[in-house]
Amino acid sequence: MFDLDAGQRVKAALDLYPDDPSGLTEEQSAAGFAQLQRISEVVEAKRLRWLADQDRRASFRRDGYLSAAAWLADRFGVGAGSAREQVRVAQALEEMPEVREWFSEGSVTSDAVRVIAEARRVHPDAFPSGETALVEAAMTCPMGELRRVVGEWSQALDEQNALEHAEILRDRRRFSACPTPSGMVRVEGELDPEGGEAVLTALQAIVDAELRAKGWNDLRTPPQRRADAVHELAWRYLHASDRPTVAGERPHMTVTVDLETLRSARPNGKSKPGHRRCELDHAGALHPSTARRLACDASVMPVVMAGPSEPLDVGRRTSVVSAALRRAVVLRDRGCRFSGCNRPHAWCDAHHVTHWAEGGETALHNLVLLCRPHHRLVHEGGFRLEMLEGRPVFRRPDGSALEDGRGPP
Ligand SMILES: [Zn+2]
Ligand SMILES: [Zn+2]
Repeated sequence: MFDLDAGQRVKAALDLYPDDPSGLTEEQSAAGFAQLQRISEVVEAKRLRWLADQDRRASFRRDGYLSAAAWLADRFGVGAGSAREQVRVAQALEEMPEVREWFSEGSVTSDAVRVIAEARRVHPDAFPSGETALVEAAMTCPMGELRRVVGEWSQALDEQNALEHAEILRDRRRFSACPTPSGMVRVEGELDPEGGEAVLTALQAIVDAELRAKGWNDLRTPPQRRADAVHELAWRYLHASDRPTVAGERPHMTVTVDLETLRSARPNGKSKPGHRRCELDHAGALHPSTARRLACDASVMPVVMAGPSEPLDVGRRTSVVSAALRRAVVLRDRGCRFSGCNRPHAWCDAHHVTHWAEGGETALHNLVLLCRPHHRLVHEGGFRLEMLEGRPVFRRPDGSALEDGRGPP
């Protein structure tokens, strides 16, 4: 029989461990920690078995949930990806009797169980004959060693059936990109070998091309460079003219901003308080200076708001740099006009010297090509740009002018 008060009794038992162990001796604190670690693994083993039971009963369907993972995520505040993995491991445990037994004993950790469950997912048919050896490895080896043993076990089987294995790998491909509350977008996934190779080759090509661009002093870390390369890849797709339309138009980034905000944002990164609306469709709120930059090139569609929910006449108030006009700017500037930079035009935005939101014309004399890092410096980095007798003059945040390395265009 199951006593519905079990939870309270277990919780009371846990009070045997003080919340703050700092007053204990070193020996007590170490021994207590080791016990708690083992207890938490034993609890996890039990929890996963109960999760498998919930999954089997599917009682969550009564509340309209489509899967145990959806129910777990929503009802208990578990992240969606983590919930899916927990249900997968719980289901796998039902098919791994030896692993289950030693996991319940606390002799195999939940991390080791995940590694073994993953091996079983790839080789479900061969798993029963290999389970004993894998459990032994899980009980005796550190995690790194266990991964190696599991990898070798998989590999030996793969060689027997390489093609089938390739199919299984391909089935595992997945990719997610989700906005987080901070406005960053978290990217996660696994690509099959062929798709992964295409991505790696494209990213490498972008990183190499950037490194070759002379005059660009790259202070970014390698992970930052790769992140920018993914950005570039997406940007180029969004700018390609031959991509398919969706609902009659080519998908584009949209920034929604009210005119007041667009005008009040200043290049030094400060804006008047009390701005109303300034956001991207998916990633959410952004700084007004960034909105100004994105709206500047007009390849990003700005939806300018007159009030919180009242768009201005989009066609009249916002500008579009037509393909012909962009060609003219490219012909004149060739590449980024920032002093000392000569990144090619494909990496550049057409920057409005006087922003169109302040009445600047979308015309050759008011447009200058700037590569994206330099466009960012001008809008968000405090640098300023003005036209003097048809030539761009760049100023540092302190107001002093930068020498333009190139002659007049
Ligand atoms: Zn600009
Ligand atoms: Zn540049």
